[in-house]
Amino acid sequence: MFATQALRRPTFTPADVRQWASTLYGLALTELEELSSFQDQNFKVVDAAGAAYIFRVDNPGWPVSALDLQNQAMAHLAAADPGLPIARLIASRTGAVMPRAAQADTAYPVRLFSFLPGRILARAGAVSPALAADFGRIAGRLSRLLAEFAHPGTERHSQWDFKYAPQVVREFLPFVAEADLRAEVEAALHGFEAAAGPLLPVLRQSFVHGDLTAYNVLVDRAAGGEWAVSGVVDFGDMTRSYNLSELAVVLAESVMGRAADPLAAAAAAVRAYHTAYPLTEAELAVLYHFLCIRMAVTITSECQQLSLEPDNAYVREVLALDRRMLRTLLALHPDHAQAVFRVACDLPAHPQAAAVGRWLAAHPEACRPLLPEAGGPALDLTAAADHWEAGNWLPDQPARIRAAIAAQLQAGRGLGRYGEARLLHTQADAADSPATLHLGVDVFAPAGTPVTAPLAGVVAASLPDGLLLRHAPADGPVFFSRLGGLAPVAGLPPEAAVAAGQVVGAVAEPGSASPLPAHAHFQLGCAPVDNLPGRVRAEADGRAVWLGLCPDPNLVLRLPGLAPTPHTAAAAVAERRFRTIPRSQEFYFDQAPVQIVRGWRQYLIDAEGRSYLDCINNVAHVGHSHPHVAAAVHRQMRRLNTNSRFLYDSMMRYSERLTALLPEPLRVVFFVCSGSEANDLALRLARAYTGQQDVIVIDGEYHGNTTATYEISTSLLDNPAEGKANREHIHLAAQPNLFRGRYRFGDPEAGAKYAASVQAAIDDIRARGRAPAAFFTEALLGSSGGIDLPAGYLPAVYGAVRAAGGVCISDEVQVGFGRVGAHFWAFQAQGVVPDIVTLGKPMGNGHPVSAVVTTPAIAEAFAAKATYFNTFGGNPVACEAGLAVLEVMEAEGLQANALEVGRYFKAGLTALMARHPAIAAVYGLGLYMGVELVRDRTTSEPATAEAMRLAQHLKTRGLIVYPTGDYYNILKLKPPLVFTRANADFFIDQLDAALTEAAE
Ligand code: PMP
Repeated sequence: MFATQALRRPTFTPADVRQWASTLYGLALTELEELSSFQDQNFKVVDAAGAAYIFRVDNPGWPVSALDLQNQAMAHLAAADPGLPIARLIASRTGAVMPRAAQADTAYPVRLFSFLPGRILARAGAVSPALAADFGRIAGRLSRLLAEFAHPGTERHSQWDFKYAPQVVREFLPFVAEADLRAEVEAALHGFEAAAGPLLPVLRQSFVHGDLTAYNVLVDRAAGGEWAVSGVVDFGDMTRSYNLSELAVVLAESVMGRAADPLAAAAAAVRAYHTAYPLTEAELAVLYHFLCIRMAVTITSECQQLSLEPDNAYVREVLALDRRMLRTLLALHPDHAQAVFRVACDLPAHPQAAAVGRWLAAHPEACRPLLPEAGGPALDLTAAADHWEAGNWLPDQPARIRAAIAAQLQAGRGLGRYGEARLLHTQADAADSPATLHLGVDVFAPAGTPVTAPLAGVVAASLPDGLLLRHAPADGPVFFSRLGGLAPVAGLPPEAAVAAGQVVGAVAEPGSASPLPAHAHFQLGCAPVDNLPGRVRAEADGRAVWLGLCPDPNLVLRLPGLAPTPHTAAAAVAERRFRTIPRSQEFYFDQAPVQIVRGWRQYLIDAEGRSYLDCINNVAHVGHSHPHVAAAVHRQMRRLNTNSRFLYDSMMRYSERLTALLPEPLRVVFFVCSGSEANDLALRLARAYTGQQDVIVIDGEYHGNTTATYEISTSLLDNPAEGKANREHIHLAAQPNLFRGRYRFGDPEAGAKYAASVQAAIDDIRARGRAPAAFFTEALLGSSGGIDLPAGYLPAVYGAVRAAGGVCISDEVQVGFGRVGAHFWAFQAQGVVPDIVTLGKPMGNGHPVSAVVTTPAIAEAFAAKATYFNTFGGNPVACEAGLAVLEVMEAEGLQANALEVGRYFKAGLTALMARHPAIAAVYGLGLYMGVELVRDRTTSEPATAEAMRLAQHLKTRGLIVYPTGDYYNILKLKPPLVFTRANADFFIDQLDAALTEAAE
């Protein structure tokens, strides 16, 4: 019945097309290209005015009513939703939408369509969640509009119509030669008939496009560089069928097979579809089976085609892809897929979840304890719990974790919570989020304690460490429970009845690989999805999906003090932030915030227990939460903390230690609390010493948040409104940037040439009858993107400034303390000695500690005119923190690590430039680097939106990095100095993959 109709393709030559385009439409074609088509002819044509069209010659075998249906439907869609990316049908000179063109003795229907930009999805790259959502949105708009479209034309009998899908599969099944594949197709068919069959009569029907495959949807890059749907073509398969067909085809044929995470992409598409055209519960219940049967139809049709054309390599190729798609689908549990689709539509994950809860609440008599005695404290195993310290949760040492948890128990007893994201399952340098979310309740008890079934049921599956039970109460829904952590007793085969309170095993001795002490695990499930995994990934909708599928086990156990772990989504926390914290206060990832609750060494850990490699924290200089620093602060905080007007020896110990690290004559230290305060004071010192007001700064830099330092901050990122404003006493020198500036990489004179810009500023100040007070810069331009200065730049500048009577200030707030590797201070890389050095960020490893170091002469000149007092600057706790940081640096050889790993990292990043034209430059020294991203290396057009998208993407792959610079297009890299080569490899691999994906 469905064998392909033998229709002869029209055979219009380019000359024919030119002639008819002129006769019918008055077009003089300048370009003409034939596109592929099975049974018709399509030409891309361009007229003399440069406008592009599709000139189509339809097969005369098609019923006119079918062509008219397409024309009417397209007209309806275009009128009802002018933004919908579909081609417009253009009428002929005589007003006909489908005139005829004669060839030999046949009259062919001809149509002219407006040309849609983009390329078919099949020739594009991967489908991101954002693109998947766009597909869903377009399909939803089509469904909404076609639901109200009517046409009298007779119905077509299409093999792609879901109404006939089982029939098609059965008819073509004999063409599927391979037994494995046949079994998979049959599984899809039977699943569809058993699960979707009963609901088919209640599904909505309407006309559908019905063919939103990767060959019929065009995609193109939108303004910000991201892919978006740019066209829907080929209305040739339009028919009346289930409304759901549109979404099913988009998911099965376009979205899922091209996405890194098929189910997450499907969820994004479903969510967008539902927003445009709400799905019914029945449609959500059958959607998964629609996907499977669609693949079964596609695969059997391809096998049938291969039986006619065994050498058709193209069909073979798509068959392999489609087969993989069907496998992916069959590997999913239908109830899991349904839960994902339902949650995407803001529905409870399982239709019966509420009924299970109601039944359990109404039947306390049916519930028995899990253990004879359950109790002890309810533990907190989240990342925020206080008993985690100094990495005692790290998964490579399960015995250490077990001991840490055992220490929280009372006589081996205690309770582990449901709905808790557990830190002990975190993974370092992992691109995928770890399975941290616990779906059961753990009842900790000594090994050997007997375990009883809390509910009557039958054995649904026997598992390595317990049982899956099915419960089918006469007056309630079917549901499941899983008992784990057990040494099960023999004699409980599948389908054996188990009574409530029956002993089913004993608490097992934990294996050496188990991070948990002896315990029994109890879990509920509305459906037996994957035998009820004990923990899953919490990211995206994982939490809502799985907590919805697996209700709170305490509905059965009724243990006091065991409320589910409270959870607030990061987005909700961010919303709360905006209520009391001003929006002007900078905030990372405000579009998709990340809620960090713990830091350890070079990692940040979020509330879901996910570890991110922290590539931007030069504050946590010696590593997050360093025990030596924490202990020093804690010790001193308990003993004494006061303002700095008293005499205590840590201040001198610290100042002596700091000055010993600096060259002569930098011997006097003012302690302050922040980099801004340090720079503010440095300005005062310079002005007091020189008696002048004018300051020269480098374009694009940032020096602080006080009134005075904000005025000398010329970064557009931090000072967007006034950074480049013309100020009487502030003078901008050109940024000595060898990629973007006037003098480029390879120019040996660049340092001197850029220094001339400072001389020009001096000349300008002189022309106004004044002299410079100070030249202010970082010796590695941190705020601008980690830009290292050209050789000879600072020596020339310092010479000029001093000759004019000014002082030279080096802002080492970001770049000091060994970060640049080869030197302790960044200015040493230029071979200069400043008159004033300002220090901050890394000094206290997060504790506010900052300082200004200067010469005795400058300090005395200041003392003659002013006093200085700073309540918190240099307080006893601050000094202990600062001393502890220096001790750790020395003990752990962190400057040497910055040099060694920094070189390796920079070489790896630089090597990526050969493969990725988006990387225009890699800047920096040691572990302070910048990766400059552009749209075009020759024009240097900054890839601003792309850089932010890349940072967001890398965050989903377990990396924290952020754009900086005047154009927000330089990824700054300034990790804690404990960063390793393996960390660098992880970053490079992920960046490589992300750039490859973005370029596709
Ligand atoms: N100088 C530089 C170079 C900085 O990058 C910063 C902060 N980003 C500051 C000074 C100001 O330091 P703080 O935020 O501690 O006031």
